[in-house]
Order: sequence, then C-alpha cells, then structure tokens
Amino acid sequence: MRTQTAQAEPDMSTNEEKINLLGLSLPKMQAFFAELGEKPFRASQTLKWIHQRGVVEIDDMTDISKALREKMKAVAEIKLPLITQELRSSDGSCKWIVQVASGSSVEMVYIPEAGRGTLCVSSQAGCSLDCSFCATGKQGFNSNLTVAEVIGQLWWANQKLAGFGVKPAAEWDESGARVAQNPRPISNIVMMGMGEPLLNFDNVMDALSLMMEDQAYGLSKRRVTISTSGVVPAIDRLKDFTDASLAISLHAPNDELRSQIVPINKKYPIKELLRASSDYMSTLGERRVAVIEYTLIAGVNDHRQHARELAELLKNFPCKINLIPFNPFSLSDYKRPSNSSISNFRQILHEAGYTVTVRTTRADDIGAACGQLVGEVGDNTRRSQRYADAAAQRITVQ
Ligand code: SAH
Ligand code: SF4
Repeated sequence: MRTQTAQAEPDMSTNEEKINLLGLSLPKMQAFFAELGEKPFRASQTLKWIHQRGVVEIDDMTDISKALREKMKAVAEIKLPLITQELRSSDGSCKWIVQVASGSSVEMVYIPEAGRGTLCVSSQAGCSLDCSFCATGKQGFNSNLTVAEVIGQLWWANQKLAGFGVKPAAEWDESGARVAQNPRPISNIVMMGMGEPLLNFDNVMDALSLMMEDQAYGLSKRRVTISTSGVVPAIDRLKDFTDASLAISLHAPNDELRSQIVPINKKYPIKELLRASSDYMSTLGERRVAVIEYTLIAGVNDHRQHARELAELLKNFPCKINLIPFNPFSLSDYKRPSNSSISNFRQILHEAGYTVTVRTTRADDIGAACGQLVGEVGDNTRRSQRYADAAAQRITVQ
C-alpha cells in the first residue's frame, strides 16, 4: 500500500482543540507519538486499539502505561461522528444517518451479498457538482467531511453489524487474494455515498489509507473503490497517494450529452477523463481495470445508438461496465428505463465484448439506493431552494 500522507502533520502546538486520534493515518499517528517523544510502534498499537478493538477511551488502552496515557489525554481524544438514525431494509441492507461537525447529516449504507459485505461511504455533506439525476446534487453543498468523519463511518458500521450478529465476510476472495487482515462484516468499500470524493482529496486519501492499513482495517486495495464524476487534475494526483480501485461515473457516450447531465464535463471532457483514468490504471498494473458507471435514464441516454457509441468510445480503455437503472426521487422527473431497454443496452455492449453488469436496486424501501442519499445538508448555496421551488411550481430550473 502507498502511504504518502496527504495533509500537514498534526498540530500539537495548542491545547484549545484536542487532536482526534480517530482521523490519524499511520504516518500521522507516528508523527503524533514522535512529538510526544515516543517510539513509532506506539502508532500501530494505538491504531489497533481504535480500529480493530473499537476502543474510544484512551484509558482503555491497557498495554500503554498510565503515564503515557495521561500524556496522550492531555492533547488528544477519540471522537466519533454521531449516529442519529438507523434504518434496516427487508433485504438485509442498513442505512445510518451520521451527523457531522458542520451540523449537516450524511448517509452511509451497508449492502450484504453472498461472501461479501459492502459499505457505501459518504465524503461530503451535499455535493457541488449538481449532476442532473442525483438527489445529493440537488441539495447543494455544505462541507467536506473530516478524515475522522469518513473513517468513522466504517468504524461505526463494523460495530453496529457485529452487534446485530452479522458474521464476518469471507477472509479470502475467489482468486485467493486477501480480503481483510482482520475479517469483519465489511469486506468492500465504495466511495459512492454523498459527495464527490476527489473534491475532498486530502481527507479521503488519509481515510483510504486507514481502510487498507493492516494495523487498522486491512482491506484489500482491490476492494476499496473511489467513484468519481471526473475531477481530472485529482485523478492525475491519485497515483502518488493510493492504489485503490477506480470507478468512473460516465453516464453518456459523447461530450454533448454528458455536459448536459454531468456538468463537470464542460470543464473536463471525456477524452481528458479517459486519458487520466487510463494513466492511473496503468500505474496499478496487475491486470486491474476501471469500472465505468452508467446510470440509465429513460429517453435521455438509454437509446441503442448510445450503447453503440459507448462501445466505440471505450474500445481502447480496459474496463468493466456497470449499468445502474435510474433510481427515482421526488425532485426529479426522470424515469427508469423499461427492463427491455435495459437488457437491449446491455446486450449491445456484451456483443461488443464488454463485461457488463446491471446493478440490482437494493434498499430502496429505506431510500438508500444509488443516488437517493440525501441526509440533511445545511446548503451553503441556494441550489436546494431553487430546486424545491421549481418542483413546487413545476417549472424547469435554468
Ligand atoms: N460523486 C461520485 C460518487 C457518488 S455518486 C460520483 O459521481 O461518482 C455514486 C454513483 O451513483 C454514481 O455513479 C452516480 O452517478 C450514481 N447515481 C447518482 N444518482 C443516481 C440515481 N438517481 N440513480 C442511479 N444512480 C445514481
Ligand atoms: Fe455529486 Fe456524484 Fe451526485 Fe454528481 S453523481 S452530484 S458528482 S454525488
């Protein structure tokens, strides 16, 4: 695992606000103990207490001397985000509402499948990018989550699921690759909750390093996925910070259509996005391929011609394609395509030689399917109000 650290060292110069040990990656935890004049092994010891044993009181770290615990307590604490609501779906999925320091709430979702448990993690309260089919985007933007707020979602989900008696997901996957050093209910992470992870780059990189760190969650790099709508300069920086898997939210086979539904495409068009993604994937080697996500919206991007164009566009880009039938939400007039158009679209790509999956909708009885995550965002922009007014008056937002 690459361990370059994305942010400045922890600031121990003031006691006004204590350092939250929950959000320190291994290198930062080592820097923390160096400041206290302690040996680096204290860092892995502390990571294990917090992330593997679930300890939240420094005093409970019983193999650390009382004197050192006192020193730690003077400048640091372990502070978790607050879980304010828990919803359990009839299909075994769970959704939790997590309150973050900015006062907003975000959502995280657990999806159990045979041999694996996936946690869909949020990176921002709201999202500034406003893709036309996304409920999160309609809420505007409030704040970036801190490292502790991102990794705290995984911490909580593991605790909660263990409490429900959910068994650890398989320790080894089909190919014999290790899934987790310390098997727990969650074997896979997708950064597909609320927000654009690459617009909260430093915090997300540190959280990813904890997910994959053996002293913390020890998840396999193949099972931790960053999903992005295409922040090209950030994709170009990725290789220096992580070797996690990459999913690209493409949703259209040409710039004209993509710019209409994924506005960031006007800034970073498809050609640049595929170039940056392909550069990143080539640094990973080991025959790893990117996932192309394509939300199918009736009458917008689901025509047979779109499938043919997509097959042509991606012919030199090693990838798998994941089709996501649009999940409806109240502020959108878009519709999910019929099963036959979904299957036609899939067939065209399949015949062109692609591995194609269609994401089955999970947990929509608790509003936790892709693109339905909303939390409660204290919008800094005026976007959420504009959309609400537009829906009320049934007019089109410009
Ligand atoms: N901002 C990142 C990650 C969060 S969105 C990104 O855009 O990739 C996670 C995935 O859900 C994306 O592929 C997104 O396009 C998809 N999605 C958003 N709204 C959706 C909806 N209403 N129905 C189905 N998929 C949706
Ligand atoms: Fe943001 Fe992703 Fe939703 Fe687009 S799809 S608005 S990038 S969260």
